[in-house]
Amino acid sequence: MRILVVEDDPDINRQIVSALNDAGYVVDAASDGEEGHFLGDTEPYDCVILDLGLPVMDGVSVLEAWRREGHKMPVLILTARDRWSDKVAGFDAGADDYVSKPFHMEEVLARVRALLRRNAGHATSELACGMLMVDTKSAKVTVDGRAIKLTSLEYRLIAYLIHHQDRVVSRTELVEHLYDQDFDRDSNTIEVFVGRVRKKIGTDLIETVRGLGYRLSGSDEGA
Ligand code: CA
Repeated sequence: MRILVVEDDPDINRQIVSALNDAGYVVDAASDGEEGHFLGDTEPYDCVILDLGLPVMDGVSVLEAWRREGHKMPVLILTARDRWSDKVAGFDAGADDYVSKPFHMEEVLARVRALLRRNAGHATSELACGMLMVDTKSAKVTVDGRAIKLTSLEYRLIAYLIHHQDRVVSRTELVEHLYDQDFDRDSNTIEVFVGRVRKKIGTDLIETVRGLGYRLSGSDEGA
């Protein structure tokens, strides 16, 4: 899952990025509204954390522009405490949730998890597909109750596929959602990478759909 953080306070920006990285997400960061708007307009994010008080272009204008341009990714806004009118303006501009500053990082992470799973149509932070279980809260993966040790990139692959289970995910889509903007993207390496993850989870859950991509599906596994 790939997340954009738009926050002009360098300390808060760094703290959020590092907490998201630790939680298994890949993160791009912007420090003003214009840069944030550009990234959200050109890169496919699974979720955005958007401060409202931003230089160059304010957060509400950024959000309005994205929605006008047709971008539907879930957006969590950061607002100053007691500024109820900011929250109203943010929701009216298309925000999905908010956190007031100062905040506890755990709350931001919990709200991000909720937005991601709701956006993909899941009701809890524990996602299951056949014998595969992904706990997005602890970033732990088990198969038939057995813990699987994964690198952070491998975890991102499984987390992305299980959020979007039962539909075909193309190689390009995977590359766009697993790596940040600076990564040298090569969709050929995805094939090798998926093969490695398949071996680790030891089941046929990740199906190759020839010419289209991959599908994680627990519906027809017999074991
Ligand atoms: Ca600010």
